[in-house]
Amino acid sequence: MSEEIIVHRTALSIPYAWAAGRHATRFYREIAEHRKLFGTRCPRCQRVLFPARKACSRCFTETTDWVEVGPRGTVTSFTVVHYAEPQIQPLPPPLAYALIQLDGADTAFIHLVSEVNVAEIKTGMRVEAVFAESPQGNILDVKFFKPITQG
Ligand SMILES: [Zn+2]
Repeated sequence: MSEEIIVHRTALSIPYAWAAGRHATRFYREIAEHRKLFGTRCPRCQRVLFPARKACSRCFTETTDWVEVGPRGTVTSFTVVHYAEPQIQPLPPPLAYALIQLDGADTAFIHLVSEVNVAEIKTGMRVEAVFAESPQGNILDVKFFKPITQG
C-alpha cells in the first residue's frame, strides 16, 4: 500500500546575533575605516594568513603580528555563476567567484571578480580590491576585485 506523505511547507525566520571576535572585528574595522587589508602572521611557520585569524590553521599556533597585504593579488582559481540568486548573490549573473592570493599573503580567499567579461578571467590574472562606498563592517566592504589594467 502506497500512501502519499503529507508535506507542510513554511518559512522559518531565525533572528540571531553573532559576535565576530577581536580578530575579525579589527579585520573588518581596518577595511571599513582605513580601506586596508590585514592578515596575521603565524610565529611558528611564518605564513601570513588572510583574512586575519587568531590561530594558524596548519600549526594551531596563536598568531601574533598583523601584516598589511594587498590590495592587489592574483587569481589562483575561479568559477563562473550563470544563474540568478538575488537573495544570496551580491551581483547579477554572470558573476565570478575567485580564489585570490593577495600580495604579501600566503593563503588565498574567496571573493568576487567584476568589471570584466567573465570569459576573460583566468588563473594568474592580476586583480585589485574595489572598496564599498558605504562600509557595513563585513567582507563586502571590499565590493569585489577587478583586473589591474595598468601598472
Ligand atoms: Zn603556522
